[in-house]
This record gives sequence, C-alpha cells and structure tokens, in this order.
Amino acid sequence: MTRYEKKIFNIINTSHSHMTIDEIYNTLKKEEPKVVLATVYNNVNKLVQSGKIAKLSIEGQIDRYDKTLKHDHLICSVCGKISDYSFTDLTAKLEEELGEVIEGYDLRIRYVCPDCRK
Ligand SMILES: [Zn+2]
Ligand SMILES: [Zn+2]
Repeated sequence: MTRYEKKIFNIINTSHSHMTIDEIYNTLKKEEPKVVLATVYNNVNKLVQSGKIAKLSIEGQIDRYDKTLKHDHLICSVCGKISDYSFTDLTAKLEEELGEVIEGYDLRIRYVCPDCRK
C-alpha cells in the first residue's frame, strides 16, 4: 500500500461512521494538507478494488466506504442514517435452504432509527 492508501485505510477502519469521499478527504487533509480530492478518489478506488475496504452503495444516497470486517447494516428510512449491527451469521441457514455453498450475503435492514422515532 502507498502512504495515502495506508492512511485512508486507517481512517476508514477507525471511523464509526460510513464516510463519503468528501469526509475521507477532509480527515486526510488534516494530516496531509497538500492532498487533492482526485488523489483521495484514486486511492479509495484502489483499496476497494483490492478488497481492503468496501464500497457501500445505497439507493438515493451518495456512495460511502466501510471496513470489510463482516457486519450488517441498519438503514433508517426517514433520515438515511446507516448503523452497523452484527446479526447472527446466516450463512449455514442460507446454504441449507439453497442447497449450494455461498460466498457471502449482504444484509440491509430498513427501519426507523431511535432518533426519528422520538
Ligand atoms: Zn433516522
Ligand atoms: Zn458498516
């Protein structure tokens, strides 16, 4: 990994939110004032292509980036907030039902978050 790739990787893995390119750029800029948005964009894409970070594309939202450690997502249908949650691993169940070996699954639960329920 290049210096920028390493820094971006660390930013995403220590973040508790799901950052957009602009948020990654603004965070990296604090350490690397000379960095430009196109460089961040290229490095983020390289990290996605090599499977070190995950791209989170959700309809109606700007792309966000996430760590690759297995977890599920709760998406608020009112404010669009994305939260991490680890549900019980369903791999075995899904394989049994399908009768095939699966490589993984992507679980997105839509709900109304506690803030919007108030
Ligand atoms: Zn909400
Ligand atoms: Zn996540």
